Amino acid sequence: MAKLKVLIIPVTPFQQNCSLVFDEESKRGAIVDPGGDVATILNAIEQSNVKIEKILLTHGHIDHAGGAAELREALGVQIEGPHKDDLFLLKDLPMSGAKFGMADSRSVVPDRWLNDGDDVEFAGLKFTALHAPGHSPGSVVFSNDENRFALMGDVLFQGSVGRTDFPYGSHDTLMASIKEKVLTLGDDVAFLPGHGRASQIGVERKTNPFIQGL
Ligand SMILES: [Zn+2]
Ligand SMILES: [Zn+2]
Repeated sequence: MAKLKVLIIPVTPFQQNCSLVFDEESKRGAIVDPGGDVATILNAIEQSNVKIEKILLTHGHIDHAGGAAELREALGVQIEGPHKDDLFLLKDLPMSGAKFGMADSRSVVPDRWLNDGDDVEFAGLKFTALHAPGHSPGSVVFSNDENRFALMGDVLFQGSVGRTDFPYGSHDTLMASIKEKVLTLGDDVAFLPGHGRASQIGVERKTNPFIQGL
């Protein structure tokens, strides 16, 4: 069984948790949500000595996807995810980059869109993509059942939930996603959100004020 390890590389003014997810034994892995600061990401990859096989995107926001096109070119690997409903966000990255002071952000079209239940494999690790809209229409969560671990994007945070005050956001849809796709993963599943500290599903179920009563 591949032993999953995660290295967090905070990127962009939003301090987004870009992550290097890899198998410690084979030193193969993937980069998840390269929002920007591509030189920093490349440096972390080099330091880690991990061979990157894929880039994964949880959703189309600038702090998660703004560096994806540049990193794909630098590494020569495929981008998988998010769900196609985030295409409008990925196309709009140069515009939102200009707005948030990330002028080098480029628009990007993934090599593979993901649907609910699709498998994503790298380094002998199997993740399942779960379509979890609400924060953005095409948000996905990546769940690795074997290691009881999930990459959460901006769906659920330690003590909070993803913001939905965008024109395309929906709090009701987000709550339904959390209830049906996230809480059902199991209380023992640890997760890394797009911002802030890692947590565990069971801890959030008990203590997160935003999801009580779901
Ligand atoms: Zn977001
Ligand atoms: Zn974010």
